[in-house]
Amino acid sequence: METNYLDLKQCLKEAEAFHGHMCGGINIGTRMSILGMKLIGISDPKGKDKKDLMVFVEIDRCATDAILIATGCHPGKRTMKILDFGKMAATFINLKTGKAVRVAAKNNDGNKIVTKEMMEQNPQTSEYFALKTDEELFDVEEVNIALKPEDLPGRPVRSVVCSVCGERIMDAREVIKDGNTFCRPCAENTTYYTNVR
Ligand SMILES: [Zn+2]
Ligand SMILES: [Zn+2]
Repeated sequence: METNYLDLKQCLKEAEAFHGHMCGGINIGTRMSILGMKLIGISDPKGKDKKDLMVFVEIDRCATDAILIATGCHPGKRTMKILDFGKMAATFINLKTGKAVRVAAKNNDGNKIVTKEMMEQNPQTSEYFALKTDEELFDVEEVNIALKPEDLPGRPVRSVVCSVCGERIMDAREVIKDGNTFCRPCAENTTYYTNVR
């Protein structure tokens, strides 16, 4: 019998073990991954297809862990790009064929604002997801993604020095202004932290 690497039960089990609990996000992320990979012709993401798959994830939550486990893609391998949009969506790319599919969780709540309390009162269980078809759960569209050499796995294309902070910048993330090289925080004069003193 041929091994089915995209087996839902098995993927859910592995995701639960990695993530620490079973939840709606684990169900969504796993279902999303299996659907996305099927649509781009990936059947063995951690074996024969492992060099051919990349994923852009639009959220940094439970579902991201499930996507990591189901696809075998992860940030340190540069095969998972996490975009902090807060959206339950991901795009799966077959690097060999260029085919890419974006899978997004359907909005079933119209324009309603859903609060934390409402989510707690009505948690999405595995039983809920088991009854739903992919068509009921997801919107799917084929998309184009222009991947740059500096975004792909492999050695960094170059490493340069910021003219302000003196720190090194890899993978062409530098900004050139008036002929000077800057890291993004120095170029935009923004950081995610403030200094203690
Ligand atoms: Zn969770
Ligand atoms: Zn800098």
